[in-house]
Amino acid sequence: MGVKDAFLYAYINGGQMAVLRILKYGDKLLRKKTKQVSYQEIKNKLPLILKDMYDTMEFANGIGLSANQVGLDMQLAIISYKENTKHYNFVIINPVIVSLDGEIYGDEGCLSFPGFFIKVKRYENVVVRAINENGLPVEIKATGLLARAFQHEIDHLNGVLFIDYLPLRLKLRYMPVLAKLKRQWKKIDESKMEPRVI
Ligand code: ZN
Repeated sequence: MGVKDAFLYAYINGGQMAVLRILKYGDKLLRKKTKQVSYQEIKNKLPLILKDMYDTMEFANGIGLSANQVGLDMQLAIISYKENTKHYNFVIINPVIVSLDGEIYGDEGCLSFPGFFIKVKRYENVVVRAINENGLPVEIKATGLLARAFQHEIDHLNGVLFIDYLPLRLKLRYMPVLAKLKRQWKKIDESKMEPRVI
């Protein structure tokens, strides 16, 4: 049992979890551009939405989750990312990328494609403008893996998936694999899964 798993296990047994089902590749909602959020309209239910999203993301061992991945049609995503001793936690509402440059090529996964990883080219540096969980405008400069996470989650909110970046040659190669996996993924329901004991 790793440190993270030990933490997860204790956490789950604390009875605080509200893990939601994560929509998988093939679900139409993942292809729909999400609606702009009025902070005033959602602020009362935001703490509960965020709690469920964090519980779900941590349960699935992800570093980012968009609201539409748990069936909520709203421009909202979370990113939680640890680097050395730093722990980044971001809530982004109505996010837009206002600046991007550089290039990185690396492995990328997605909670809507469990266990499936591909190499994706992304911008190395991004600047994101959004509203945070307190309704305040924020500007976030991100680089490397964190920049990748922002691009991935903001894509989700626009109905774009990481497989869309595959060159046609690879897209054709992965198509039958994805068609097969899609049928298996459809059956996975995180909200009904037992906590993992390792
Ligand atoms: Zn994803």
